[in-house]
Amino acid sequence: MTVRQGHRPLATRVDLLVIGSGIAGLFTAARAVAHGASVAVVTKGGLQQTNTRWAQGGIAAAIAPTDSADAHARDTLDAGAGLCDPETVAVLCREGPARVRDLIAYGVKFDREHGADGAPGEIALALEGAHSAPRVLHARGDATGAEIEASLAAHIRRTATHLHERHLLLDLVTTGRQDEGTLRCHGARILDLGTGIVRTIEASHTVLATGGGGYLFSQTTNPPVATADGVAAAVRAGAVACDLEFFQFHPTALAVAGAPRFLITEATRGDGAWLRNASGDRFMTRYDPRAELAPRDIVARSILTEVGEGRAPGHVWLDLTHLDPERVRTHFPTINRVCTRYKIDITRDMIPVAPAAHYMIGGVWTDADGRTSVQGLYAVGECASTGVHGANRLASNSLLEAVVFGERVVAAAFGQGVRATATSSDGNHATPDQGPDMQVETIDRLFVGDGSERTVPPRLAQGVTILRATRRQLWEHAGIVRTPDGLASAMGAIGSWGRMSPPAPVSRRAVETVNALTVGWLMTRAALSRQESRGAHFRADAPDSDPAWRRRLGVRLATPVTLG
Ligand SMILES: Cc1cc2nc3c(=O)[nH]c(=O)nc-3n(C[C@H](O)[C@H](O)[C@H](O)COP(=O)(O)OP(=O)(O)OC[C@H]3O[C@@H](n4cnc5c(N)ncnc54)[C@H](O)[C@@H]3O)c2cc1C
Repeated sequence: MTVRQGHRPLATRVDLLVIGSGIAGLFTAARAVAHGASVAVVTKGGLQQTNTRWAQGGIAAAIAPTDSADAHARDTLDAGAGLCDPETVAVLCREGPARVRDLIAYGVKFDREHGADGAPGEIALALEGAHSAPRVLHARGDATGAEIEASLAAHIRRTATHLHERHLLLDLVTTGRQDEGTLRCHGARILDLGTGIVRTIEASHTVLATGGGGYLFSQTTNPPVATADGVAAAVRAGAVACDLEFFQFHPTALAVAGAPRFLITEATRGDGAWLRNASGDRFMTRYDPRAELAPRDIVARSILTEVGEGRAPGHVWLDLTHLDPERVRTHFPTINRVCTRYKIDITRDMIPVAPAAHYMIGGVWTDADGRTSVQGLYAVGECASTGVHGANRLASNSLLEAVVFGERVVAAAFGQGVRATATSSDGNHATPDQGPDMQVETIDRLFVGDGSERTVPPRLAQGVTILRATRRQLWEHAGIVRTPDGLASAMGAIGSWGRMSPPAPVSRRAVETVNALTVGWLMTRAALSRQESRGAHFRADAPDSDPAWRRRLGVRLATPVTLG
């Protein structure tokens, strides 16, 4: 593809530029439009090609009269293994119920209990692992994300928002200097994937809502859009990224040769499903008193042990056959449909499952209003690191995080009125407090180690792309169980591929490859630094948590760079 750079420069100028069209992007855009802001949404695929549309279990919020924001916060802090930011957790849990009401106002139809005479009753709330109360709202059984995405997309199409589908974020446009406190974002350079034209969209406020990076791993529940583009672009622009060593692996993804690693929600285990090895043994009872309802990282590691010790052939089985078939079909219609495609009747056959990369806990550091360390730049949703997840995410908190902090971004940007902040250099940014809880390291360059990592020559087998090789490295060495040697060799390989990556990538895959290398390298670097195990980060050489490591690790580039 030929890029005609600058062919239509500064074609658009808006109050708010939103990059990404999942729950975070569409909700933030909808709230900004309601404030009277002019808004553009840019997304690299079709509007609904997102992680959001695949979310199954639901969205957590303390809406039951017997529940409370405090109880939700306690559960979130417990799951986060000592690294949550208590301020953002309190915000998440306190403001969650109001944002769920906003979603309902935008047309999301959550499942309801059957009321008297068959009329719809109260909103149905599921109990999920590590939640102390039923508080997970869901829609169409296990199609919560699809319902939310479709409702928000329909709403946003009815507004005056400028929608740019099949437009790819290349880089953020910045001026000023980090060390002088003047670094400011003015919008973004966007590649029109249809024409190959690069345009700059100027904006008073720019929101990254680009989602996570599950596709950086060869085994993942995420769709191919999840290449951590926003985090990479933010790092190149000089923003602080944080918590990158923490990546959540889901224990139960469909393990059928040639099939995508489709998620089998843990709501199945909440409903009583069992995990079995090749002998039919319900092995989780040997690993944890909570058995199948133990935290995700424990279940994932237990499955690896069963496989590693020869009691299962690369995967284990999820057994729902003892449950009421009608209830199984009603609660899990999507899983039923997908498994049927692979000739698995989930009411009669056991489902082959194995762990897969699922949720990027780290991302672009933000404060409680979604502000990054760069003026005029915000991050919301899975690409953000607000501190609500700590070292491990509580199930169903990520959809909630997107709407709670999306609302706060709009309040921070437009709370004083749209025009009031549209032209000012208002210092609307934040700086992570350096202290015992947070350590931000400034690095001179990407892809250059301190020499301790082994440099692996980038020899790729014929036909294996750098992206594919990177995904394999990350799965093998920065996955569920990590070792210093494995991490160092992955960092060395990724670093050497990063140093040879093309100076001016011009296709979507080339840009995604550079972004995957960038975030993959930073991820292995952070995982190598953290010499303990905590939450989702497990180091075989240091299996326990160490109080000395009870701090978040951030990183920033000393001098911003761009793709080409
Ligand atoms: C299978 C599955 C099940 C899940 N179940 C749940 C659940 O039950 N509950 C829960 O809370 N969470 C769940 N999650 C996690 C949750 O779905 C995500 O964290 C959340 O949807 C992320 O929303 P988002 O808007 O931040 O990102 P996404 O929904 O991933 O949207 C990101 C958007 O950014 C766009 N984009 C990315 N890069 C670029 C670029 N360079 N240029 C332009 N556009 C770009 C993408 O095209 C996409 O539109 C699940 C995730 C998966 C994969």
